[in-house]
Amino acid sequence: MRSALVYLALLALGVAGVLYMSKLGGSVEIRVADYEITLHFAIALLILAIVFAALHLVFSIIGRLRRAPHHLRIRRDAKRRAEGDAAVTRALLALAAGSADKARIEVRRARDRLGETPQTLVLLAEAERLAGREDAATEAFLKLSQRDDAKFLGLRGLLRQAIQREDWPTAQRLAREAEEAQPGAAWLRQERETLALRTRDWREALALSAPGVGQAPLALAAAAQETDPSRAQDLERQAFQADRGFAPAALAYANRLRRVASAKRAREVLRDAWKASPHPDLAEAYLEGESEPLARARAAEQLVQVNPKHPESLLLVGRLATAAALTGRARQELDALVATGQADRRAFIALSDLEEAEHGDSPEGRAAQAKWLRLAATAPPEPRWRCASCGTDQEAWAPSCPRCGAAGTIAWTSPQTLPVAAG
Ligand SMILES: [Zn+2]
Repeated sequence: MRSALVYLALLALGVAGVLYMSKLGGSVEIRVADYEITLHFAIALLILAIVFAALHLVFSIIGRLRRAPHHLRIRRDAKRRAEGDAAVTRALLALAAGSADKARIEVRRARDRLGETPQTLVLLAEAERLAGREDAATEAFLKLSQRDDAKFLGLRGLLRQAIQREDWPTAQRLAREAEEAQPGAAWLRQERETLALRTRDWREALALSAPGVGQAPLALAAAAQETDPSRAQDLERQAFQADRGFAPAALAYANRLRRVASAKRAREVLRDAWKASPHPDLAEAYLEGESEPLARARAAEQLVQVNPKHPESLLLVGRLATAAALTGRARQELDALVATGQADRRAFIALSDLEEAEHGDSPEGRAAQAKWLRLAATAPPEPRWRCASCGTDQEAWAPSCPRCGAAGTIAWTSPQTLPVAAG
């Protein structure tokens, strides 16, 4: 609008100029050899303007013709790009719908229009995987991994394939390369953790794990793999501090302290662990070296001070007091245990032993023992180490199940949490 006004103003100015010139008069003479042309000055000006306009028109047409192939190419490229983008969308839809053949056709179309871009290579690999052609997918991932702009995408695909075929050394190498290509990627961290667990690389699994109680079994397993005693001790302490209620860590740490430091420090660790979560193995370690029944009962009393009402504390004191002939104390603890409603088979067997200690081999004693043994038969079983993956009982805790190979599945399972049918 503004330029139109400017043109109009210029035109008006031009016309006014020509009119003014025609009023002024004057002429232009052109003489060539014997010929002579005389023009009115205004007409000459007009002819000059027309010649200028004509020349401008001719040059702009020549310019347009010269630029035509370039414009044509731009239009053709835009069309190819639009077609390629549409093929990419259709390929994505086919992949989402699980139609491998359709996806491969659309990916071929997209590659034809767009060339080998990271986008088309990823789609190609996914379409080939969907079609079950892992080798072709590997080839696409390899091409991606060789590009600077999509290295991580290629390595990610190759890593996924290696994990799927359980080729752990290759998977670990690829994970390292991927970490270099894209440090700190959340997905990769998770994959590396899974890999470390699968390859039993506990130190790596520990380094990748989130802080918290979950680190205790990993640190303990890493300590068992460690050849340097001081580093092993550090890992055992780390395991104990991560979860004081994880008895295997407390036991390993206490055992080491007993060897390299003092029995007193070892007992402190065991007491801390008993406070967090009592476990029969902790009591066994605490009483190690005490052979006299009375001394054992006293040591047990000392241990349970930190957690006196726990069923394991009541059972431990009840059993050891019976063995030391402290029947009154034993009765007090075992009755309290039954009253908690959390007594398992061991409590009723301990009560049967107590009857024998109190009454000897008498009809009265035998009748009382039989009563407790009947209850023992129907009571929940004692807690045990059990693999949550395959459901088998284990002699001791281990970082991975010796039966099914699952990592981190063996846990101390109390009878109350066992399924009814298992009793
Ligand atoms: Zn198992």
